[in-house]
Amino acid sequence: MKPRSVHYSTLLFIATCVLSIYFGKSAEAIHVPCLSKENMIGTVSGLRPYKDSGFLISTQILGKQNKTTDIIRIGNVLYRISKGGKLLIHNFGHGGSGLGFSLGSAELAVNHLLVEMNLNVGGYFDPLFKVNPLGIPGDNLKELGVHRSIPQSLNSASQIAVLGAGVNGLAVAYLLTKLGFTVTIYAEKHYSDTVSNKAGGLFSPCCVQETKDLWEHQKHTWVQSRSYNLLLELAGAGIGISPMRLYTALESLAGMEQLPKGLIPPVKTLNPLPFPGTKSRNEKGYLFETILIDTPHYLNHLHSNLIEQGVEMNIGQQFRDIQDVMDIKEKILFNTLGLGSTLFGFNDLHPVRGDLVHYKPDPDLTYMVFHKDKYVFPQKDKMVVGGSFKMYVRHLEPDHKKNQAIIDENRIWLHGK
Ligand SMILES: Cc1cc2nc3c(=O)[nH]c(=O)nc-3n(C[C@H](O)[C@H](O)[C@H](O)COP(=O)(O)OP(=O)(O)OC[C@H]3O[C@@H](n4cnc5c(N)ncnc54)[C@H](O)[C@@H]3O)c2cc1C
Repeated sequence: MKPRSVHYSTLLFIATCVLSIYFGKSAEAIHVPCLSKENMIGTVSGLRPYKDSGFLISTQILGKQNKTTDIIRIGNVLYRISKGGKLLIHNFGHGGSGLGFSLGSAELAVNHLLVEMNLNVGGYFDPLFKVNPLGIPGDNLKELGVHRSIPQSLNSASQIAVLGAGVNGLAVAYLLTKLGFTVTIYAEKHYSDTVSNKAGGLFSPCCVQETKDLWEHQKHTWVQSRSYNLLLELAGAGIGISPMRLYTALESLAGMEQLPKGLIPPVKTLNPLPFPGTKSRNEKGYLFETILIDTPHYLNHLHSNLIEQGVEMNIGQQFRDIQDVMDIKEKILFNTLGLGSTLFGFNDLHPVRGDLVHYKPDPDLTYMVFHKDKYVFPQKDKMVVGGSFKMYVRHLEPDHKKNQAIIDENRIWLHGK
């Protein structure tokens, strides 16, 4: 058999990697990942759902208000909605932080429903937010010929539809099934085919707009803190969540500076950063303690759990307009359609394209790096090397030039050449 020809520059690069790893280890006991061509396994691109006014978790009644009304009861609260109307809870627009914020967002979205239902859920939830879409005050009920019912515990007849099967849909469905609801997921694409399954896995408010609205800001802060604390509780549970160090350059902190004060351990300044490349340039930076979510592992866990709980998955269902949504049988809906949420008239939602290069997994890589818009994160089945943030780009055609820039910029930053 003809031996594979190995280019001289490839050999030189591998030698540089080996030396970098060696010297890195001897000086700082840090392992530096090798980005050689041989270890590359593919490229992938995805569109982040970026909302100009930040991610949204809110309640809406879907369906025009008219004189023909239905009374629906959710727990012990009665709602008057137009005939065929539905209670819709939005949870979308997380940009580049949807994976990290999925648990807190799901909990807040489910809280919107639980607060309405006025349920005692045994302290698992700590409802902070009171929302009251079309809540009917008790006195008016008699006029309507309706009596406020006695508080009831949950029953299995409470059927809920979750629209979307990305991380936000799976996380909402996960919490709802824990509470005893019967959940059906409707989505065009299976979770393994969504942008969620492409995410790098860093917990940070990266590429997500901060909101100017005070009330929304409080919600966002709550979601970030709650997500972080829930993730920490789940770390070590074998579902792909691990506390992890993140080294950043001075000028690009992956959004970490936006996290609520005191949430993560104090940041350290490093002078210089401990990689051969940064040392040779005497480049300062920061060391954060944050969390890495091993994306496929985490999503697979959520999905398997939902299958075990008997959640029905209607994959391949595309909603073309609101009427398609109105046609499904459930009256309580959660919207986790990501970019698909433009369906409900949210026009400040845009794609931000991201490109990634995947490498063979590196089991010795136990930290993450982020510099400018580039990064390297370890996962169990691969090493994720990114990235790019291209606003308004909708297509997913491979961009070879961009992928090469991703590799080169990461290599030079880490190795110096
Ligand atoms: C390159 C890249 C790297 C990233 N890295 C990170 C990271 O490190 N950390 C992090 O936290 N986040 C990261 N993200 C962001 C993260 O992936 C998203 O914020 C998150 O996946 C959004 O999840 P979602 O469930 O809201 O939407 P999606 O995953 O897009 O899911 C939407 C679901 O709705 C369905 N749907 C949409 N429209 C319709 C319709 N009309 N009819 C029927 N179904 C529909 C889809 O089929 C899908 O099932 C990254 C994203 C990219 C692209």
